[in-house]
Amino acid sequence: MHISQRVRLLTPALTLSVSARAKAMQNRGIDVCNFSAGRPEFDTPDHIKAAAQRALDEGKTKYGPVGGEPELREVIAHKLRTENGLAYTAENVAVNNGAKHALFNLMMVLLEPGDEVLIHAPYWLSFPEMVKLAGGVPVLIETDLASGYKFTPAELERAITPRTRLLIFNSPSNPSGAVFTPEEIRGIAKVIVDKKLLVVSDEIFEKIVYDGAEHVSIGSMSPEAFARTIVVSGFSKIYSMTGWRVGYMAGPVEIINAVISAQSHSTSNVCSFAQYGGVAAYTDERSSQCVEQMRQAYVQRRRAMMDLLADVPGLRCRMPEGTFYLFPYIGDTGMRSVEFCEALLESQKVAAVAGAVFGADDHIRLSFATDLEVIEKGMKRLASFVRSLS
Ligand SMILES: *Cc1c(COP(=O)(O)O)cnc(C)c1O
Repeated sequence: MHISQRVRLLTPALTLSVSARAKAMQNRGIDVCNFSAGRPEFDTPDHIKAAAQRALDEGKTKYGPVGGEPELREVIAHKLRTENGLAYTAENVAVNNGAKHALFNLMMVLLEPGDEVLIHAPYWLSFPEMVKLAGGVPVLIETDLASGYKFTPAELERAITPRTRLLIFNSPSNPSGAVFTPEEIRGIAKVIVDKKLLVVSDEIFEKIVYDGAEHVSIGSMSPEAFARTIVVSGFSKIYSMTGWRVGYMAGPVEIINAVISAQSHSTSNVCSFAQYGGVAAYTDERSSQCVEQMRQAYVQRRRAMMDLLADVPGLRCRMPEGTFYLFPYIGDTGMRSVEFCEALLESQKVAAVAGAVFGADDHIRLSFATDLEVIEKGMKRLASFVRSLS
């Protein structure tokens, strides 16, 4: 059977396959410590579920406007104005089937074949694949443990060529947990403006930050930066709503309208009643307490996992400033990430994601969005595994 070149060029999503293998082992009754999931395990807060149930009862069961329910677009614009200093109105917002779909739509709408897209590595694994699907060329800006997984304005400038169209910027960053400071972001914004690029800013983890780290949107740096920014976000991570598939983008009206036009021929509107869960997430006063409770749980789990990691010989890890991942460097073990993760799963029943999928083959990703018992047991197993290597 002929499969298009577009799809043959893709790298399969390995994070899903590790998770799937861990799940399959669990289903066979094997006691797996699963640190591979990309999502929080909390249930969606009750008041958000109730809002979607109400919307169902009220008959929000039909096709809706392609760009999103007007109420949700309004609420998102209000949130971005008041919390993020971004002067958007409802017409600057499009609701999509998750942040992932927002990003995919943007690549389809913004790229011509051969256009280069700058991506800082380690990166969220879908960024380069989406660029390729849209005919673009991903160009990596490498970062490492020593730089705290951050790049400088000078490094950004060096990566720019006449074909560069945009930067995909992700802070708080998945998988590294790095959060760029306002000063660092100001420097990056200046290059975007000077070089007349666009920046797609993936801010899906904005509220999952620690130790006083501050999330700032790159679009709030100056009116010139604002004009060149498209913010992408959603409800999946912060409100534990991964299965709802509600995300959004906000940016210049011209781009938003082009996205809505493309979306009208692919998925149409996002599930109508699910969008009312999004409205409740951003307007109900109970939300901030729920988010803070989940964040406090992550604070505790992050601490526990970091403390236990300190007992693992030969792994080095920065304290993440955001997200719910640790991203230890395994280079000192002499193993590459895929063989490391396979052996770890086989011998100790611990599931971790190989850094190779994020463009960092000398790292692994461990999610601490799981309970403390699993963290304690799994980290002991990881320590035995690493000791057994020497
Ligand atoms: C999880 C994740 C997404 C996708 O989120 P959805 O809204 O569930 O599609 C996008 N970007 C990053 C960095 C993520 O971690």
